[in-house]
Amino acid sequence: MTTIDPPPTSLPTPEPATGTGQDLVLAIDVGGTDLKSALADPAGALIDIRRTATPASSGVPGESIVERSAALLAEYRGAWPTKNIAAIGLIAPGLVDEVNGVGIYSANLGWRDFPFADRLRRATGLPVSYAHDVGAAGDAEMRFGAARGLGDVVVMIVGTGIAGAVFCDGKRVLGGGYAGELGHAQVPGGLDCTCGLRGCLETIGSAGAIARRYTELSGQAVPGAREVFAAAAAGDPVGRRVIDDAITALAFSIAQLVAILGTEAVVIGGGLTQAGDALLDPLRLQVKQNLSFHRHPVLLAAQMGQDAGLIGAALRARDLLDAP
Ligand SMILES: [Zn+2]
Repeated sequence: MTTIDPPPTSLPTPEPATGTGQDLVLAIDVGGTDLKSALADPAGALIDIRRTATPASSGVPGESIVERSAALLAEYRGAWPTKNIAAIGLIAPGLVDEVNGVGIYSANLGWRDFPFADRLRRATGLPVSYAHDVGAAGDAEMRFGAARGLGDVVVMIVGTGIAGAVFCDGKRVLGGGYAGELGHAQVPGGLDCTCGLRGCLETIGSAGAIARRYTELSGQAVPGAREVFAAAAAGDPVGRRVIDDAITALAFSIAQLVAILGTEAVVIGGGLTQAGDALLDPLRLQVKQNLSFHRHPVLLAAQMGQDAGLIGAALRARDLLDAP
């Protein structure tokens, strides 16, 4: 997860607890550098959020994550001795088989076909769900956030790269772990991509690409997309061009999704949403121009903030307890 929105101060209208008493669940978000964790109460509120370095792989990639997760469970039990922790929701990047709880592949973290849910279940004796980090963030937006009450939704996280969670008829599309790779779908004007293709959306439409292209074209290094939006607003033609190219590419991809899926809402999260209306207003206009008789989606800023993944992980762990 690369979202850098401010965290929500409180969850909007949580759903009522569903028959699991006051049991807590442990949510763990494995990132490339950080491992975030928290307990979550039956209403979905996060308690005792902690952040540690992602443990380095020792031997079999994935095993150190299981060991660290089991140690975290023991630490939280020590810190909250009167509470019962009843399930674990683990999320990670890469290709994820959520049905079988398997990490198919992570380029950054090194595992291939590692059975996270099974290994952590054996290590802790608790029910464990294993899910994709952006998918889980999408689940949180659907349940509590910007897409609450909607069924046909794409949640796009636009940060260093671009990834998505696609919902049809209220259900997230899994595609065996391969769905939602919006950043690696080709668009006109796209550039060479680290995945080996040319033309991927994230080479031109991501916050990372905006900063990188501005630096290349202007010769002036900028730390992020925020500075490029500021330059464009001040009349810098290079900044304007880079932002326009990004918006054109994002609008192309969104219109394609809408035409294929009948999407009613596109929720945009991640670092790029810091630009606010400077991003959303022109993007809305271009998406509208790219559609005719189609469904016309609303474009919404994500609401769940930087802990969206953790909240989604907790939701999935809770679902294990609520399952018959
Ligand atoms: Zn690519």
